[in-house]
Amino acid sequence: MLGSTITAIATPPGSGGIGIIRISGPQALSVLQQIFRPGRPNCRFTPRHLYLGHATTPDGEEIDQVMAVYMPAPHSYTGEDVAEIQCHGGYVVCQEVLAAALAAGASPAEPGEFTSRAFINGKMSLDQAEAVIDIIEAKSSEALKISARQLSGSLSRDITNTADALLDLLAQLEVAVDYPEETDEAALADSTHTAISNALDNVRRLLAQARSGRYYREGVLTAIIGPPNAGKSTLLNALLERERSIVTPIAGTTRDTVEEYYLLNGLPLRLVDTAGIRDTDDPVERFGVERSRQALADADLILLLLDGSRPLDAFWRDLLLAHRHRPLLVILNKSDLPVDAATTAELAALCPDAPLLTLSARTGGGMEELRRAVWDKLLLNASGESLSGLINDRQKAALLAAEDALIAADQHFELFFDAGLLSIDVQTAWQALAEISGRAAAEDVIDRVFQRFCLGK
Ligand code: GDP
Repeated sequence: MLGSTITAIATPPGSGGIGIIRISGPQALSVLQQIFRPGRPNCRFTPRHLYLGHATTPDGEEIDQVMAVYMPAPHSYTGEDVAEIQCHGGYVVCQEVLAAALAAGASPAEPGEFTSRAFINGKMSLDQAEAVIDIIEAKSSEALKISARQLSGSLSRDITNTADALLDLLAQLEVAVDYPEETDEAALADSTHTAISNALDNVRRLLAQARSGRYYREGVLTAIIGPPNAGKSTLLNALLERERSIVTPIAGTTRDTVEEYYLLNGLPLRLVDTAGIRDTDDPVERFGVERSRQALADADLILLLLDGSRPLDAFWRDLLLAHRHRPLLVILNKSDLPVDAATTAELAALCPDAPLLTLSARTGGGMEELRRAVWDKLLLNASGESLSGLINDRQKAALLAAEDALIAADQHFELFFDAGLLSIDVQTAWQALAEISGRAAAEDVIDRVFQRFCLGK
């Protein structure tokens, strides 16, 4: 409830150098004064100054030596009066300082409540709040960089500029509906056409970034598949440059999937080394095979690894044919051994458009070409540098709704110019875009965003 004063431990549970207890709301200063005894008398809590002293219970019982800071509204994270106490980073000490803040009149914060208050108080838009989650969960420094850019408002600005242009158009269309006799229809038709196609371009540019956004946020699910003994585990180890999968010459050693993160130019790849996909009677191995099939079905990228020194069998030829229209790289391993020329020729005929990669996972020859081929295959038309943010599913759905409405507007425009009809489409597109920043988001959408937060954020 806005208006109340909330508190929570902002640092993760466990032991650490410091723990932070955060207090936000109109009573923040009063709560702080009841549970913080400054080292020097007559402390006036100059805003944003750090004070050394002791955290105590409201009855004056000492808990720990701490630092405290007071940040009055509106210049704080939540936009409300905020106080923070930095105590030693132990579980018990943090809990005791928290209990003292509660005893002094604060109530426990819900997960994400500090950030949701920041949103409600206009300190950030909804997509900026989502960037906070992405920063906390960043899987690479590149992902962090993009999320930090989003938090500073790059995506909001992109969206707001497009939405504002639509709002201007909407105003012109409504005037034309109300005062048709004062409207220069040819000029309005012209500016309507320009505004709709500009907005459509912008929305499509952002939609093109959505796939990269998911890749940077969740990682690219990359399934390494291939017959037993092709060298899948060796390849995973060669990429990770350490021993992770057990490499043996016995077929079926990797009984379950092995998953590892690998950073390719800052892009996290979720590498899954699958157990050989094949028919088996062994119940344990069958479980692994099932998991491998799932990884293959879900994969964003398939690395089909074959032993280049052996003939291609029918099972893998069929599998290749079944998946050749998906993002797939065919890799012939063991290039340090004599190559089976028939296999190479057959593969070239099966996938004439796909480059055939040859490498030796054992010696490392050809690994650089593989890395380059993976990057090219993912068609990352937008590099991390040019992304406005890590577009998530909620934002993508809103962008798609905006795109639909703008396409409808464009089609209506082509048929005949009707300001009233067009204003409905433009209004729908504006509404969808305004949902992204939260300007026009329904309460349950907002609630769903903040449910993803952790306590104390
Ligand atoms: P997996 O069953 O596909 O995971 O295959 P492994 O990675 O366990 O490798 C099977 C065998 O092939 C092991 O003896 C590896 O040392 C060997 N191997 C893997 N890669 C190469 C390679 O590039 N060249 C050669 N000569 N042997 C390799």
